[in-house]
Amino acid sequence: MSGTLADPLLPVALQELKLLENGKEWQIDQTLSELVSLTPVRGKLRAMHRGNVLELEGVASTIVTLCCDRCLQHFNHPLSFRTREVLWLGEQARHDGIAPETVLEGNLEVLELDADALCESLDPSSDFDPEHWVFEQLNLQLPVVNRCGEGCPGPNLSAAGSLQEPVIDPRWAALKNLES
Ligand SMILES: [Zn+2]
Repeated sequence: MSGTLADPLLPVALQELKLLENGKEWQIDQTLSELVSLTPVRGKLRAMHRGNVLELEGVASTIVTLCCDRCLQHFNHPLSFRTREVLWLGEQARHDGIAPETVLEGNLEVLELDADALCESLDPSSDFDPEHWVFEQLNLQLPVVNRCGEGCPGPNLSAAGSLQEPVIDPRWAALKNLES
């Protein structure tokens, strides 16, 4: 493997993945249709079909441009993730309430995962969309509050000057007149 060639993140049929004993691996180096980023998303992803579940393991990073909520200036923000996730294939297992250990038949490696992570499922006859998965992982890393950094100049006071005029209570204004 050269390691320099990128594999386009194209959907792959789960039935096809099932036939790959060692799963499928993508070297990621591209922009995503659902995410505007300053640099291409780089990393890698591995998908492994394990009968009743699809095991996903990925790492990727990129830089996005965000708008600061305080000073309204744009700034660059690095985004990255390292995720391991297991998706159910089919609804059956969930509805029957079968515990993951029953389904995975002693796959101890997978059992270390939090059971809460096993909440999503895929139709076994559908495709796995690696691009959308990578997008979702990056999207989860976006900050709730956008702050450009320590040196944020804060709200632009001169632009909002009229709003910053102190409102003087008329009673205090009267006192002020007595003083002079
Ligand atoms: Zn700012």
